[in-house]
Amino acid sequence: MKFGGTSMAGTERIRRVAGIVKRQQEAGHEVAVVVSAMAGETDRLVNFCREANALYDRAEYDVVVAAGEQITSGLLALHLQALGCKARSWLGWQLPVKTDDAHAAARIEDITSPELLASMAAGEIAVIPGFQGLDPAGRVTTLGRGGSDTSAVAVAAAVQADRCDIYTDVDGVYTTDPRIVAKARKLKYVTYEEMLELASVGSKVLQTRSVSLAMKEGVRVQVLSSFIDENAPPADSIPGTMIVSDEELDRILAESEEGQEMERQLITGIAADKNEAKVTLTRVADRPGAVAAIFGPLAEANINVDMIIQNIAKDKGETDVTFTCPQADLARTQALLEERKETIGYYRMIADSKVAKVSVVGVGMRSHAGVAATMFKALADRGINIQAISTSEIKVSVLIDSDEVELAVRVLHTAYELDAG
Ligand code: ADP
Ligand code: ASP
Ligand code: MG
Repeated sequence: MKFGGTSMAGTERIRRVAGIVKRQQEAGHEVAVVVSAMAGETDRLVNFCREANALYDRAEYDVVVAAGEQITSGLLALHLQALGCKARSWLGWQLPVKTDDAHAAARIEDITSPELLASMAAGEIAVIPGFQGLDPAGRVTTLGRGGSDTSAVAVAAAVQADRCDIYTDVDGVYTTDPRIVAKARKLKYVTYEEMLELASVGSKVLQTRSVSLAMKEGVRVQVLSSFIDENAPPADSIPGTMIVSDEELDRILAESEEGQEMERQLITGIAADKNEAKVTLTRVADRPGAVAAIFGPLAEANINVDMIIQNIAKDKGETDVTFTCPQADLARTQALLEERKETIGYYRMIADSKVAKVSVVGVGMRSHAGVAATMFKALADRGINIQAISTSEIKVSVLIDSDEVELAVRVLHTAYELDAG
């Protein structure tokens, strides 16, 4: 079981979470719980780091931001004990959750769990802070924002759990963020592949890595609400959204009665990401190695570049290169490229963080033409300008002005006939 920040925000909510956990144990399960920091806490801690130094040392950043989850894990153990359950916390360094040394974006390599398994078998509920781990040098790491989801899936894989229930503040995965589009529809099933793509383009309901890990390890993941009372249907009856394999979904659709009624949609979901920034380098030399000189250093610094556009060279053998990166990495990106201005050989660097990426995702795209055309037309009809485009087999993304993102998502939700009711 994993509980996110809103579910852990304050005494009353943690008490409710303890009740949900206790009921799962009473239903006959051995339980490990992964928790997030209280809502807003990680942002607050990140801000302290930024105030200390805009180009902060990521290893020390990890020491600071990992602290939020330490507090909530201890508190949940205390609340469980107050309900008469045996419970204890296991911090990332105690388990340990071994990661690589990519601070602030570390990848889990291994969770050694004999003691954890023994304690769970003895009826003790294990409470594990999400988001944190330990690198090979023995320093604290964190897994990137939203990383508690990945901690939960990794723990589920390590203890060979029957299921990994991700409790959050919505009751499942919707066709788009239900906080932006009131007409969003809850999905009963989503395939790993589509969830992976949705997460990677901004559906923060699950961290991208948690989905790829679940897919690789075959962990059964359910997304469901923690804002429920004692009379709510039990988690075992799958009240939320199950993430399933493509084959499993085909089987469900073919076999079950409810499946007969559900047809697979062309588009499964729409996601938006406001955390992108756009960088343009003007008049870059149009020669072999020029873009390698730009993107090599960014890759080494673990900066994920997303959309890339290179214009056709003008007559002078020069070209403009535009790309997007996470807003959080913009300052480092600018610093790295500024340092290399001579080697790369560009004229001017222009940065814009008032952009957002909107994406439509669906496996139906594989067999249907015209998905991108529908998107461009729907946006054009509303006068929304497209600044960059990228596509994959099951996704089309566009970069637009961040002021227009809510409108764009709503317009597309209607255009692809996803509106509820
Ligand atoms: P937690 O703190 O529990 O990890 P998050 O805020 O990280 O919660 O993720 C849950 C939020 O994800 C929801 O409140 C919702 O606004 C947002 N969200 C974005 N896209 C979707 C979607 N397609 N379906 C459901 N929720 C979504
Ligand atoms: N507390 C961390 C964050 O806000 C991890 C998580 O909540 O998943 O990013
Ligand atoms: Mg989250």
